[in-house]
Amino acid sequence: MEELLNGLNEAQQEAVVSTEGFIRVIAGAGSGKTRALTHRYAFIVNELGIDPGNILSVTFTNKASHEMRRRVKKMVGGEQDTGFITTYHGFCVRVLREDIHRLFYPKNFIILDVEDQKILLREIFEEMELKMNDKTFKRILDKIGILKGNTHYVQQMILRGEMPSADDAGDMDGQIIQRYLKKQKRVYGLDFDDLLNFVFVLFDQYKEVLEKWQDRLYYIQVDEFQDSSLKQFELVKKLSEKHGNLFVVGDPDQTIYEWRGADPKYMVDFDQFFQDTQTIFLNQNYRSTPQILSLGNALIQNNYFRVDKDMVTANPEGLKVVHYHGKSEIEEAKWIVQRMQKLVEEGAEYRQMAVLYRANYLSRFIEQELISANIEYTIFGGFKFFDRLEIKDALAHLRMIAMEDDLSFSRIINVPKRQIGKKRMQFIRAKAEEEGRSLYDTLKKYADHDRLRSTGAKSFIEAIESLKDKKEEWTVSELLQEAMQRTGYEAYRREDGDQERLDNLTELLHSIVQYEQTLGEDIDLDEYLQMISLYTDDDRDDQVNSVKMMTIHTAKGLEYPYVFVVGMTESVLPNVRALRERKERALEEERRLAYVAVTRAEKELYLTESEGFQNGGQRKYPSRFIFEVEEDLYERVGELDEALIEEAKEYIQATHHQSKQQQATGFSKGERVSHPVFGHGTIEGIDEKKNTYHVFFDKMKAPRPISRNFKKLEKLKE
Ligand code: ATP
Ligand code: MG
Repeated sequence: MEELLNGLNEAQQEAVVSTEGFIRVIAGAGSGKTRALTHRYAFIVNELGIDPGNILSVTFTNKASHEMRRRVKKMVGGEQDTGFITTYHGFCVRVLREDIHRLFYPKNFIILDVEDQKILLREIFEEMELKMNDKTFKRILDKIGILKGNTHYVQQMILRGEMPSADDAGDMDGQIIQRYLKKQKRVYGLDFDDLLNFVFVLFDQYKEVLEKWQDRLYYIQVDEFQDSSLKQFELVKKLSEKHGNLFVVGDPDQTIYEWRGADPKYMVDFDQFFQDTQTIFLNQNYRSTPQILSLGNALIQNNYFRVDKDMVTANPEGLKVVHYHGKSEIEEAKWIVQRMQKLVEEGAEYRQMAVLYRANYLSRFIEQELISANIEYTIFGGFKFFDRLEIKDALAHLRMIAMEDDLSFSRIINVPKRQIGKKRMQFIRAKAEEEGRSLYDTLKKYADHDRLRSTGAKSFIEAIESLKDKKEEWTVSELLQEAMQRTGYEAYRREDGDQERLDNLTELLHSIVQYEQTLGEDIDLDEYLQMISLYTDDDRDDQVNSVKMMTIHTAKGLEYPYVFVVGMTESVLPNVRALRERKERALEEERRLAYVAVTRAEKELYLTESEGFQNGGQRKYPSRFIFEVEEDLYERVGELDEALIEEAKEYIQATHHQSKQQQATGFSKGERVSHPVFGHGTIEGIDEKKNTYHVFFDKMKAPRPISRNFKKLEKLKE
């Protein structure tokens, strides 16, 4: 117990030992929320004697869940199954594996990523003899996303066996979507939206399933709760109904997924959803130097819709935060790389450095300099490892062994070439359709048919069958290795001579071995395949001594000693959409993003930007976020002339009248104000939608809405 509480401050300790009831921890970046959450898990296991199988711990990414498993294992011993330290999606997979048969899906359903979705769509376009391009894909996928915004379609499709007739079923898009859903069902594929929706339908239709999980999960805890969506919130709310133990941690200032449905209100109004909520605040920052912390605090204070937090740190003084201004992107990149080299001369390592940016394309100009300076770097996000052709092929082989699905079959049947091209595929497809078989089954049946006799069908079938025999006996990594050899895929790649593809295959194998070792549990093939489908590139292990490069979104929850936030330019951060919309909310989300970026830094922080022109020909100006904190929080490096600053300020003003106005009369909850007619009063609340304050005037019986643009509401000096 000592051990679990050591290295935690009093408030964190309180969080660890507060195991019963509804509890939320609200605290700023780097205050040890995740650490407290991890220790709490171990506390529940070690001190309360609860089995890990009865604790659900939701993390935001797979990477975060692996990290947490690793730490927890150190505290509770390696034997325990920590499979319930997972993401929302990961948890849904667990639920569905046990009961999806009730919805007439097999337990080894497959999970479709965007790439798979596109393959299905491409097939449909071909069948309907339609032209396709990226735009059409996106339009259809968006429409499918909207259809899947609620669970009606699942009810219809699965329970009533109808095809959801989208409103516009008559038109082309509607027909495509119907076909898509049919195909999806045929391969027993679920996309990410389906995972949550299917769980809801299952819980709804089969109370005993819901009750089973409510019984099982004595304790539920959620990290990064501020970025949970309504559906996700409803899920944990439902699950915690029986035992009533729900513990959430988060920082409303770090909500950066509003555009994807996240809503910090579940965190902020948590006490209204659950009676007797206990709230714990952590206010000591352990991550950053006082200089970095002050900058972060000063920046986020410009946000209007927030509750102020008072963060302090006892960490030793560091250097001032540097704002670097370059004359061009190349200069910006060169300066960064030189600074990195200097840090290394002084004893730092490249692995301690991270380059963060608003959008993936911004990595390119830094990459070029890193390459010419011969510095190793790893990019997270961007082109995904698991999206690579050879990786998808390899996994399709495993999927063939596991479930012989049509999607995987079409992917690998003719790679390497087995003389089964378009014509023969059409033959197989037609037969499959006629006889209601899977493509693989059809191939097996007709392998001796005139049309297929001279092809490589037989040897393919032999290879797959021999592997299927070993499915239970061999580990996943063994299966993959054998599959690559027996089907001739590896030889084919070798002949191809592309070393990078071979290296990637080796890395995949390596990652599976690692997965088997860290989990140390018997992983069966089906389960592995489902988990791997949830992966994104950001989940890869990184042990190389390289500079890490990633978007700010990906950097959430992470920390690095030296952080470079690059491309701090107007219409990059804040991005152009936020500026165009001229909505305070959008701008504030951008500011929170900047806040997340700067609070990743432990020792030194560099904000860089440069002159030049945007894609559209617009001049580049330093981000407003750089100007809105006090001058003495920065060390300015590079030549930034007055004229450019003036121009930038004009531009900023021109693109954001609204925020100026609001800040001029910006009051927060609890403040005392004076009104020319109603007299003195207190701000009771703010209605963001209507853009009004709720002011309770001393002389009145009820609060009154006052427009936030009303200039004559003044701060009362009492
Ligand atoms: P974020 O909001 O960015 O997710 P967080 O609140 O989750 O941050 P952690 O990542 O848990 O913060 O902690 C930040 C750093 O401070 C970590 O390196 C952690 O190990 C360290 N830390 C946390 N609590 C303490 C403590 N009581 N004493 C010393 N170090 C601590
Ligand atoms: Mg955290």
